[in-house]
Amino acid sequence: MRTISLPNYDIIIAPGALDTVGEVTRRLVGAHRYALITDTSVEPLYASRVLASFGPQTPVVLRVKAGEAQKTRESWARLTDEMLALGFGRDSCVIALGGGVVGDLAGFVAATFMRGIPFVQVPTTLLGMIDASIGGKTGVDAPAGKNLVGAFHDPAAVVVDPDTLRTLPAAELRAGLAEAIKHGVIADSAYFAQLRDETAALLDAPSGPGMHAAITGSIEIKASVVRRDEHERGMRKILNFGHTLGHAIEAGSDYRLLHGEAIAIGMVLEARLSESLGLAAAGTADQILDAVERAGLPTECPRDLDATQLIATTRTDKKARAGVAEYALPACIGTMAAEHRGWTVPVEDAAVLAVLGRG
Ligand code: NAD
Repeated sequence: MRTISLPNYDIIIAPGALDTVGEVTRRLVGAHRYALITDTSVEPLYASRVLASFGPQTPVVLRVKAGEAQKTRESWARLTDEMLALGFGRDSCVIALGGGVVGDLAGFVAATFMRGIPFVQVPTTLLGMIDASIGGKTGVDAPAGKNLVGAFHDPAAVVVDPDTLRTLPAAELRAGLAEAIKHGVIADSAYFAQLRDETAALLDAPSGPGMHAAITGSIEIKASVVRRDEHERGMRKILNFGHTLGHAIEAGSDYRLLHGEAIAIGMVLEARLSESLGLAAAGTADQILDAVERAGLPTECPRDLDATQLIATTRTDKKARAGVAEYALPACIGTMAAEHRGWTVPVEDAAVLAVLGRG
């Protein structure tokens, strides 16, 4: 077992950890009642083990259909209403069992239910384990863009069981690798190189020791950034590398592209942007392209997406200032640019159009 600590909670990483969720939650929270929020793909795989881990104080299961389309205010309202109808009170606790969609949505339910109740993250996707479950960001998508309605709400704990990756579809595993590559780019060139060299082995053995080490390394990076800037006033913005264009592409594709796939494209484009602005060392974008290709992730923006619309969406990004999109851009592998101006830079539309190949 490995424990990585943030000021308000621990991230516990251990094969078989699903069977400890009840004990961990009862020890930390000791709530009167528990709601297990999951999705319809994860429930048949793992809910019974988590429920059994609570002993006689069995949580009530609430579910959404699987997929990004469920991360909405409508799902939030339905889940909240179900909890109210079932008589849950302020002495309740939510368990989020699933990928980043369930984590963000269930976390937002917990953040807002009766002005906030505790919750525990039990991520079952690679992306959820190394990224979405850590850092306390919760929320839902809006028609105008991703994650535009939400709240910071730290979990009481994050319980990571890498064995759950055995059942994760290969495309989802690849999508999770996108965020691991991002962690290497923003903070750790050695981690980046190791990940790039071991990609094939990681995909072959998703619950092997190599993946366990990759998960732990990635969590260490994310946790160290969050520790320094919990509420994204400065340095935490570097975690958004690839996400300004990535989110716009994800939403523009009507969520046909997985989050990690869109971020992979966003990282390649934003690295090219950084080179074109003279912020990144020559060759940085090619190194990222290579890592993304090895992970079997897409590298180009789908041609059917309208560039003007993409740029309009980037202006709704939460980093935008006075209607101008701000980008977190790399200086080289392992180091981000623009520390002196708070880690983001405004970028003219023409430069973005050029990297989109529509200039
Ligand atoms: P997801 O939650 O949609 O899960 C992907 C799919 O895998 C779903 O169909 C799910 O049912 C299925 N699944 C999950 N675990 C499984 C398992 N072990 N075996 C088999 N199937 C399994 O997607 P995701 O990639 O985990 O998360 C993406 C979301 O995370 C996006 O909405 C993104 O915005 C969000 N996110 C949030 C943060 C944050 O800081 N809060 C950071 C990064 C991403």
